[in-house]
Amino acid sequence: MSEPLIPEYVDAKKIFAQQAVISGEIPIERFERFCQSLANRSGTAQISLQFLVDDQYKRVIKGELRAEVQVHCQRCLEVATIVLSDSFKLGVVDSESFIDRLPPELEPWICADNRLVLADVLEEQLILCMPIVSYHETDCHPAVGITTQENQSTKLTVEGNKQDKPNPFAILQSLKDNK
Ligand SMILES: [Zn+2]
Repeated sequence: MSEPLIPEYVDAKKIFAQQAVISGEIPIERFERFCQSLANRSGTAQISLQFLVDDQYKRVIKGELRAEVQVHCQRCLEVATIVLSDSFKLGVVDSESFIDRLPPELEPWICADNRLVLADVLEEQLILCMPIVSYHETDCHPAVGITTQENQSTKLTVEGNKQDKPNPFAILQSLKDNK
């Protein structure tokens, strides 16, 4: 049984008025830009999105995503499977000038007309939770002294940006986490 597919875009007016919840999956190959950092286009992302209007009439998207994708290990250059999972909270605004009014726990998302392109929202979130470099956890990780190039199918899990690595988004993430 497969999950329902996430629509490419939704009517922003309707979706927030209905306080809708959308969940399902979207093939990784739909994300052109994201695919450029992957070894191949296989797999799907599981998504859950909740659309709500908060008590200050701000439009908020609460989302969760999980995707298993294949990247090139930076040590042996073979394919490694990594799991991306993240949750996010976006404040949807009409234009850049409204970003200042968003509380820090909301990441801004600009939607100038009523066409809210979910595929773009999701692609951005996927890109944000990609690790800067990936290794096979067991054999190739810099923290592991001995390198044997077997067991390439080992999975490693990356929890969004929550690992302690230098990351330009770490500050954003910690703002989110302090919520
Ligand atoms: Zn490797």
